[in-house]
Amino acid sequence: MSSDKKKLPRKDLPGDARIETLAVREGLPATQWGENSEALFLTSSFNHPDAATAAARFANEEEAFVYSRFTNPTTMMFERRLAALEGTEAAIATSSGMSAILLLIMGLLKAGDHVVCSQSVFGSTITLIQREFGKFGIESTFVSQTDLSEWQAAIRPNTKLFFAETPSNPLTEVCDIRALADMAHAAGAHLAVDNCFCTPALQQPTKMGADFVIHSGTKYLDGQGRVLAGALCGPDSFVNGPFMATMRGAGMSLSPFNAWVVLKGLETLSIRMAAQSANATKLAQWLEQQPGVDKVYYPGLPSHPQHELAMRQQNGCGGAVVSFSVKPAAGDVTVPGPANLDEASLRLRQAAFHVIDHTRLCSITSNLGDTKTLITHPASTSHGRLTEEQRLAAGITQGMIRIAVGLEHIDDLQADLARGLDTLNV
Ligand SMILES: *Cc1c(COP(=O)(O)O)cnc(C)c1O
Repeated sequence: MSSDKKKLPRKDLPGDARIETLAVREGLPATQWGENSEALFLTSSFNHPDAATAAARFANEEEAFVYSRFTNPTTMMFERRLAALEGTEAAIATSSGMSAILLLIMGLLKAGDHVVCSQSVFGSTITLIQREFGKFGIESTFVSQTDLSEWQAAIRPNTKLFFAETPSNPLTEVCDIRALADMAHAAGAHLAVDNCFCTPALQQPTKMGADFVIHSGTKYLDGQGRVLAGALCGPDSFVNGPFMATMRGAGMSLSPFNAWVVLKGLETLSIRMAAQSANATKLAQWLEQQPGVDKVYYPGLPSHPQHELAMRQQNGCGGAVVSFSVKPAAGDVTVPGPANLDEASLRLRQAAFHVIDHTRLCSITSNLGDTKTLITHPASTSHGRLTEEQRLAAGITQGMIRIAVGLEHIDDLQADLARGLDTLNV
């Protein structure tokens, strides 16, 4: 497959088609059979009419599908549709969100280059940048999500990449994409934004100056918790240049089946995001009124420290992830917990476990981006491998609960949480 994927046929769509239209229509033209729903091309390779044509295709003289490690029609439909939603020239699909970050750094950087990254990004992102790429001589500095002066101070002559994720997990801290893009560009670096929490339905980072957008398609793009998927969006010169070359060599490819699932997921992305964010807003407002709740973390609440920035940056929407912390449990401490936790922390843990264990609807799982509401205790799951000091420095207490709000009726969700909150110290 030649690197110039743009030459493959395009669908005849109006040039000014809006995001909702592109979400259901962008892709490739139908085959000769005229299928209405996008076809699943579950094939590893593609046939050529004769040897000379095969030779021309391998020499990049003729545009065609060759082998599904570098591209496949179903995968390409997902890539084109996601790029259309993000407003980028191109996108390249990967087997997971982590492999999108792997592809970004493998394709963009070399030994001796330096990355400045928010310390509040997804835990595996920190591991990948610091431990894995550290082994290959890539340097990194981790800085505050919200304090721009820390980013500025971290810049070195060899800084090539800024990496941010907003809002952060589980504290929902919001960073200023436009300010980070300007700072990165002034330093001769690129800015990549992990847009997993907002998706292009709420936030398009390249419109605010970011160069690359990372997706875990596993989350809202699929939207129903079925498959792992990822993508890297950006300018054609990078996506179909160095990133495509790295994909050919390294093979972190998305399976056509998974591509088909997320492709169809994109069709309902904007209405799911709107409905789940509306549910999350109501839930956050309700949680703020509950006597057992200490603090609510949600960018859609006026009490959130970056509320105004979030509303500007996220299309006026808080997103669908709400975190909150509970007040400590009274009475005997019976909750199981590591020996190094002091009594105050154990009381918070006991209260959080009580609320989680009294839900009947919410699924106890650390995933997010599902139509089902998911509930998790970050301190003992996603952030369980940190020391208590590291967790507290990051603001994640034993009393914190994260909810990835789904599509259930808001009254049912409130009742589900009230069962534990109302009986905390009874
Ligand atoms: C889940 C997640 C990832 C990793 O995605 P996978 O598809 O699980 O590899 C990266 N970033 C964020 C913000 C995530 O939530």
